[in-house]
Amino acid sequence: MGSLKIENVKKAFGPVEVLKGINLEVTDGEFVVFVGPSGCGKSTLLRVIAGLEDSTSGRVVIDGQDVSATPPAKRGIAMVFQTYALYPHLTVKNNMGLGLKQAGTPAAEIDRRIGIASSMLSLEPYLERRPAELSGGQRQRVAIGRAVVREPKLFLFDEPLSNLDAALRVNTRLEIAQLHRRLKATMIYVTHDQVEAMTLADKIVVLNAGRIEQIGGPMELYNSPANEFVAGFIGSPK
Ligand code: ADP
Ligand code: MG
Repeated sequence: MGSLKIENVKKAFGPVEVLKGINLEVTDGEFVVFVGPSGCGKSTLLRVIAGLEDSTSGRVVIDGQDVSATPPAKRGIAMVFQTYALYPHLTVKNNMGLGLKQAGTPAAEIDRRIGIASSMLSLEPYLERRPAELSGGQRQRVAIGRAVVREPKLFLFDEPLSNLDAALRVNTRLEIAQLHRRLKATMIYVTHDQVEAMTLADKIVVLNAGRIEQIGGPMELYNSPANEFVAGFIGSPK
């Protein structure tokens, strides 16, 4: 299970309102992509969903439960960041397993999950290496593997491919799509790349200045953008 409901979520930093009342429903197993220009609030919305940031008002509901007061580690969510956020002094294996170890998961179970995730992500040859000994694409796969071993209900990806070169972006995007098919988990994915949005999404959410402009399937947005803004991002030229 991994359904999500966002109810009238607002977020201000001091006097500046960054999220101006977001309403969204994500069904279990859906792949939802947030697109919008830099600064429109995509990362803030992900961070509110993850619990890394408190909303100013509104509710986040996961599988029918209001998690607004639930700490990040207890939300059943794993987040993958643009910058990988790996521990430089730990091996790949220990980077992947650290969160589980801290949660008290038995060592044998941690090893079992790392085995599965590293096989899915072709990371077996690198388990004893440290991040500095890996390429950017390999580092991002480790960050994705670290999310997978937690067996979250909900994956959050914040521009995970932005630091990769063009060829690696395509490969890693295909790996994420494959992961979604295999795990059947709910995934929310932030990007400002139209191709990523069109190819990955079941549903695209177009954000602009803290509001949702339109929600719809890729072809729906492409063929029937609600306004010039959406057309400029996704739609066919008007
Ligand atoms: P996006 O991910 O769409 O580029 P963000 O969610 O990172 O946008 O940021 C939205 C707005 O909120 C930006 O104007 C940004 O400067 C501001 N912002 C984000 N985080 C903070 C913070 N911790 N303190 C103050 N302002 C912030
Ligand atoms: Mg961002």
